Amino acid sequence: MTARGSLVSLAAVLLLVGDPRLAAAQYPIFDAHIHYSRPDWDAYPPERALAILAQAGVRRAIVSSTPDDGTLRLYERAPSVIVPFLRPYRTRDDMGSWHEDTGVAAYVEDRLKRGVYRGIGEFHLDATAVDAPVVRRIAELAAERDLFLHAHVDAETIEKLLGRYPKVRFLWAHAGMSADAETVGRLLDRFPKLWVELALRGDVAPGGRIHPEWRARLLRHPDRFMVGTDTWVTSRWEIVGSSMRDVQQWLSELPVEVAEQIARKNGARLFPVP
Ligand SMILES: [Zn+2]
Repeated sequence: MTARGSLVSLAAVLLLVGDPRLAAAQYPIFDAHIHYSRPDWDAYPPERALAILAQAGVRRAIVSSTPDDGTLRLYERAPSVIVPFLRPYRTRDDMGSWHEDTGVAAYVEDRLKRGVYRGIGEFHLDATAVDAPVVRRIAELAAERDLFLHAHVDAETIEKLLGRYPKVRFLWAHAGMSADAETVGRLLDRFPKLWVELALRGDVAPGGRIHPEWRARLLRHPDRFMVGTDTWVTSRWEIVGSSMRDVQQWLSELPVEVAEQIARKNGARLFPVP
């Protein structure tokens, strides 16, 4: 092809796709919030679940489950894809009471002997329980083994946890679900061992456009944010693809280097393939 021919083809391509800066880029994704709990196992056998992640552009994912066997099923089939976190819930009944059950601490300590886990969580907790002996023991185990704690807690509770357990790295689920950008930014400024994932946070990009308050924090702390889906009920597995398309849409509004970090590189750096 002549140089002139190449230019004509290039122009045609640009006309076809529109301005490439406006097209949603397809960044490879590290998903920081996937569950594979008992009700999911029959509906989406491991190969199917792994295929859903791959089709959504998810290269690697933090997975936890109730019970933990679901996480191990996925991990055994795809150890370079799955980043296993140990959930301290033996059954769903542990969700509200785990922090006051010494059996949970023993369970966690015993499961950790497998040596495959990169974190403990996701767990729920409120501010009054931060000093509970079981929480303290789990924080000790995390610090000793350099494991993350994946905490679904409000802003008051994450601040207390970070102050009480300064040796532990925390992954804050859903950025506290309702904490505003200003609060998240203030905590990131103050606590170097805090990372934040944005699963289910539609307010980051309402209508597909990044809110200016969030954009400012993403640009200030591009090394501290990750994206996630949260397959907290089985039906969520059906929307992994569309939820990631929404994420790709707002990532495409950020400078490429920032988007790449939030999409995948932060997760890859924090959780290198063993
Ligand atoms: Zn969750």
